[in-house]
Amino acid sequence: MLARTLLLLGVLVLAVLCAEDYYKLLGIKKEASERDIKKAYRTLSKKFHPDKNPGDKEAEKKFVDIAEAYDVLSTEETRKIYDQYGHDGIEQHKRGGSPRQRHDPFDLFSRFFGGSGHFGHQSTERHGPNMEVRVAVPLRDFYNGRKTEFTVEKQAICSECEGSGSADGHVETCDMCGGHGVVIKRHQLAPGMFQQIQAHCDKCGGKGKIIKKPCPVCGGSRVIKEPETHELQIEKGMPSGVRITYENEADESPDWSAGDLIVHLIETDPAYGQQDHERTDGTFMRRRGNDLYWREVLSLREAWMGDWTRNITHLDGHIVQLSRKRGEVVQPHTVEIVKDEGMPVWHQQLENNAGEQWGTLNVEYVVVLPDMMEKGMEKEFWAVWEKWRKKGGKSLDKEWGRPKEPIVMPKEDEHDEL
Ligand SMILES: [Zn+2]
Ligand SMILES: [Zn+2]
Repeated sequence: MLARTLLLLGVLVLAVLCAEDYYKLLGIKKEASERDIKKAYRTLSKKFHPDKNPGDKEAEKKFVDIAEAYDVLSTEETRKIYDQYGHDGIEQHKRGGSPRQRHDPFDLFSRFFGGSGHFGHQSTERHGPNMEVRVAVPLRDFYNGRKTEFTVEKQAICSECEGSGSADGHVETCDMCGGHGVVIKRHQLAPGMFQQIQAHCDKCGGKGKIIKKPCPVCGGSRVIKEPETHELQIEKGMPSGVRITYENEADESPDWSAGDLIVHLIETDPAYGQQDHERTDGTFMRRRGNDLYWREVLSLREAWMGDWTRNITHLDGHIVQLSRKRGEVVQPHTVEIVKDEGMPVWHQQLENNAGEQWGTLNVEYVVVLPDMMEKGMEKEFWAVWEKWRKKGGKSLDKEWGRPKEPIVMPKEDEHDEL
């Protein structure tokens, strides 16, 4: 027992002495795919970027460590070495003078997000355009909250050539324009009189650089179109039309630091789905702010005589029961306000420590009269009405003094003088 405890202690001490596990650092599993590794790097490097955490030494160290972890795990060779021999193996590999160059963490960052590797919005660096997309989800998701994904097609820095556009990494400065992309041409207008015109450099196509062997993946354009999937956290009660910003996830280019991807979260038109949970009454509730609206149909008997119950299935499946006792009349178009059965209030709109809150559910009653009756039934109803009409019935026309004949309007020439 003691031996085991000692052994365990020994392992613990070792773990403390060693640098943090690369997989743990990136928050991924050992069997993570190349995609997972990239994704983890993208998320974490933005989070711990020194521009975002000014003066925070810990974040800065983390930013460097994340770059190091990505550097090792994103290359098959070094990943294998790391998996087998850990940090020591990587150290030895480096000392072995492998030709693989190590990336400066900012350099690596710029390969993902463009520009010079800095993305503080206050910096003078050029920003790419923002990108806006609409994502539509059913009302149910706004009510219950949901974690989902969406995919956008965007321009990404080519990872094959790391944004150089060149297959062998060689990019030459254009000798015609000296890298400016433009040349000055002189035109003689008259003897001794010249006009200077700035013109696009034909040799390099205005890029200022010449690539002899273009990258086979991007064809030298340095960027490719690729789909990218993002996680989307729909929070309970988020307003329809809310804008969710994904920093630096818009189109990438080596020439700028990527702009933001902005998601407009909107509501889809209501429709029943295939599964039970997509077939609640709530599916067809209408939302206005934090309140919900519903129209419930009552028969004439119910509206007039009472004694009825209704189980309305809400957006999360729970039941809102409405009822009237015998003798309780519901006038057509009456709106019943059911407290706390509306939308959940979004946490950002709640006051501090207010706890969970909901809007109201507004139920409008619509009364439908039968237009067909069984003959016997019709006869009985008729008899009842006749009996009571004769006892105390009123003619509203007579009461309001309405004429039996039409009223004749005066002719035009008979108008009074004004
Ligand atoms: Zn390329
Ligand atoms: Zn040129």
